[in-house]
Amino acid sequence: MVHVGIGYDVHALVEGRKLILGGVDIPHTKGLDGHSDADALMHAICDAILGAIGEVDIGHFFPNNDPRWRGTPSKVFLEEAARQVKSREGTIVNIDATIIAQEPKLFPHIAAMKTNIAAALSLAPKQIGIKATTNEHMGFVGRGEGIAAMAVAAVDLKE
Ligand SMILES: [Zn+2]
Repeated sequence: MVHVGIGYDVHALVEGRKLILGGVDIPHTKGLDGHSDADALMHAICDAILGAIGEVDIGHFFPNNDPRWRGTPSKVFLEEAARQVKSREGTIVNIDATIIAQEPKLFPHIAAMKTNIAAALSLAPKQIGIKATTNEHMGFVGRGEGIAAMAVAAVDLKE
């Protein structure tokens, strides 16, 4: 039986931080603020996977007030989500995600993001869909104050 899950995440764009999305260090004047590397794309995918298996969100596994996870690369969180699926004898069928960012242009980095996410989840890159869109200059994303990501995951579970 295929179960689906949804995930959403957003982080503020601030000066003095690296911009990491899908595990790719993207050249930009600002980066995403957060306790870990603030990779909003990977966090949204984590929550989609965990949602599909009826689990709580990724923040439950890696509390953002725990100093152990300060600056942690978010692939660690994806690896944990994959472990949770495996512990239920499930398999991830596919992931689809959209990044919403006014700047910078993300298309040149999409292939590398797919490679990183597929590696963290032990999947093939063709099982990962990633799109990027702007917010047409509207709202906090459109003003460049933050970057959001949403994702869905399909997970095949035995029962
Ligand atoms: Zn996050």
